[in-house]
Amino acid sequence: MAKIPINIATGSLQQEEIIVGIDLGTTNSLVAIIHPETKQPVALKEHDSSSLVPSVIYFDETGSIVVGDLAKQHLIDSPERTIFSAKRLMGKSYNDIRNNASFFSYKIIDDNTESLVKVQVGDKFYSPVDLSSFILKELKQRAEHILKTPVNKAVITVPAYFNDAQRQATRDAGKLAGLDVLRIINEPTAASLAYGVGLDKNEHKIIAVYDLGGGTFDISILRITGGIFEVLSTNGDTYLGGDDLDNAIVQYWIQQCNIDTAKLENDTSFAQAIRLKAEQAKKHLSANDSFDDQLGEYTFSLSKEKFESLIRPLVDKTLQCCRNAVKDAGLKATDIDTIVMVGGSTRVPLVKESVSKYFGKEVNDQVNPDEVVALGAAIQADILAGGNKEFLLLDITPLSLGIETAGGLMDVLIPRNAKIPSKAARQYTTQVDGQSGMRVSVFQGERDLVKDNRKLAEFNLTNIPGMPAGLPKVEVSFLINADGILTVSAKELRSGVEQSIEVKPQYGLTDAEVEQMLMESITHAKDDIAVRALTEAKTEGEQLLKTTERFLQKNAAELSKQELIDTANAMQALQLSITMEDKDLVHKKIEELNEISRPYAERIMDTAISQAMKGKQV
Ligand code: AMP
Repeated sequence: MAKIPINIATGSLQQEEIIVGIDLGTTNSLVAIIHPETKQPVALKEHDSSSLVPSVIYFDETGSIVVGDLAKQHLIDSPERTIFSAKRLMGKSYNDIRNNASFFSYKIIDDNTESLVKVQVGDKFYSPVDLSSFILKELKQRAEHILKTPVNKAVITVPAYFNDAQRQATRDAGKLAGLDVLRIINEPTAASLAYGVGLDKNEHKIIAVYDLGGGTFDISILRITGGIFEVLSTNGDTYLGGDDLDNAIVQYWIQQCNIDTAKLENDTSFAQAIRLKAEQAKKHLSANDSFDDQLGEYTFSLSKEKFESLIRPLVDKTLQCCRNAVKDAGLKATDIDTIVMVGGSTRVPLVKESVSKYFGKEVNDQVNPDEVVALGAAIQADILAGGNKEFLLLDITPLSLGIETAGGLMDVLIPRNAKIPSKAARQYTTQVDGQSGMRVSVFQGERDLVKDNRKLAEFNLTNIPGMPAGLPKVEVSFLINADGILTVSAKELRSGVEQSIEVKPQYGLTDAEVEQMLMESITHAKDDIAVRALTEAKTEGEQLLKTTERFLQKNAAELSKQELIDTANAMQALQLSITMEDKDLVHKKIEELNEISRPYAERIMDTAISQAMKGKQV
């Protein structure tokens, strides 16, 4: 009857699988979890280092990939091998970024097509999905190292303005990194959760989430009623963030120091060095009144006052977005109850003051603005894990979704700002007698002609039985799931012929590329499985050692001398096997320690139970 408490390897102390929250940022990324004891969200970090992992990837000459702080250092010495701001490329074609191509110091392939951009490093090509997967892989490994347990499940946040293609790309990057992405959620939704807004069922509030990160600006207006989050409107600028504040400083210094702009164009190392110096100045000025420093032959200085005059137009631009968002939500600035500040750039005093002035209220900035989104993602992960079942998150579609109809017209099935999840269906028919196929082209956007919108996918409904034109009834259905990802299906209702498609958003992965990625994941699957099995065995061994130790501290007096010696030897052998990276050996030693401890564990339990029974009246 008695369970053996010491056998935790298979027993009741087994921990539930952890789900992490990940903020995959333009500048920095990080992982957070709900602390198992305090039940509070915490960002993961190694000892006293930062929780932020720079979203920077460095490819060295030998093909090794370095992510984070170490990679960031190479921005100066190897700008062409060091990739930053990869998130800006997610789901983008070269045409999308053409005007901003000079922003990147690495090589972006201009194939002049609609397909997704690729980045070239040496003789290798990487898609933004690959690049994001490298960052996610690093985050996963860090989390596993810190938590000493495998991490396979995650909630990942994306900007509210990410379209389906970009959400799907983020999900794919997670998959490539070996993560089961349980949910993609909007960053502002996560940030509000981190402030605990809406946790009280009786709370009714309108919230503005002002997110000025490294590369992007995003303002979202949310309504929270009875524990339900609803995004009323979103606005922002994909090319406005801390990087632009840095840029304003760079431009000023170039002018002040008479630096030849050709030097900046030709000497990428110098360009990066001056960028980093400008960022340093900006951060310094968040807490000080002036900055002075040297870079080679140049002396750079900047007063807080001058800095504020340089960035005021950028701050004003964000306020204009706020005005638009408030208007789209059908509200006035004074209707906003709470303002949440997100993103490292909201540390700039002028930003805080300006936002506070516009809304006529103090802003909420108590939670670390770099961590707040990840912390919210961890809370969402906890909700998914069953920790908080009563929550519902409602998001909206940022752009309309529809199909192409005769004459290249956009026929919207799911309008912009529709609540997610969402479903819609509409019937169409053929134009020609005996027409046996129908092409379904899916577009996203607000324009009337599909050529002005963004194509997401295309498929053919085939095998429609020959009928006169206008007779077949083809029902096209759109389904956006809770992650904001779209599935399109088409069914000819008279014959039942049906075709459905997981929307393959045109963010650039051709079938061959997907196949290659799959092949690669299969090739590496063996290694991945082996690594995971070893990590699991080691964790199991370490946990068993800890419980045995605790058990001995309490019960050593009940053990014979021989039992103590045998246990000590078995523990030592297990400890040794853990350091030897041999999964089978670890399992063997776990089993041996269990064999030794089982008899006395049972004995002690039985004694404890019979003593407890003695004291009771039966
Ligand atoms: P994120 O995308 O949220 O990681 O944004 C990071 C941005 O915040 C970068 O542009 C940083 O330069 C900026 N940042 C971080 N700390 C500060 C600070 N103390 N003052 C001003 N900007 C900061």
